[in-house]
Amino acid sequence: MAGSLVGAKHVWRAAVPPKVKFFFWLALHGRLWTAERRKRHGLQQEVICILCHQQDETTDHLLASCTFTREIWHRLLARAGMQHLGPGHGSCLSVWWQQTRLAVPEILKRGFDSLVLLVCWVVWKERNRRTFDNDASSPAQVFAIICEEAGSWIAAGYQSLAALFAAVS
Ligand SMILES: [Zn+2]
Repeated sequence: MAGSLVGAKHVWRAAVPPKVKFFFWLALHGRLWTAERRKRHGLQQEVICILCHQQDETTDHLLASCTFTREIWHRLLARAGMQHLGPGHGSCLSVWWQQTRLAVPEILKRGFDSLVLLVCWVVWKERNRRTFDNDASSPAQVFAIICEEAGSWIAAGYQSLAALFAAVS
C-alpha cells in the first residue's frame, strides 16, 4: 500500500531525521490524529482548525492549505523568488508536493523535499502546542523556529537543506 502512494519513495529518500520521515508518512496516509479524524472516531466534537479558526482541521488543510501554513511558505519561498510555488487555497498536501518538486531547480530539489517535511513537522508541533499546551506562536515566530531547526539539521549533516537556505537567506 505504501509503495503505491504518491510520493512514498520520496519520503523515505528525503534527507531528514527518521522521526520526521515517520511523521510525514503518517500524514500522507491520513493517520495523524487531527480534529477531523478524532471527530470521526467519536473522540471530540470540535473540528475547527486551531491555527486559522476558519476551516475544518484535516491533514491537507493543516499542512498545506491553511492560511497560517501558507503564510509561512510565502515567507520561506519569497526569499528565493519562488513564492509562486507555495501551496494554495484548497491544496492537497501530496499532490502539491509532488507537482511542486518538479518545478524546483534540480540542485535545490533534495533541499526542497527536506524543507517540505520540516515545515509540516514544525506546523504540526505548533498545532500540538496550541491544542495541548494552550500556547500559540505567530507565523513569524514559527518561521523563525523553522530557520533555527534547519540550522540544526544542517549542522547534524542534512546538507541538502544548506543549498536551499543559501538561496533563501
Ligand atoms: Zn487553518
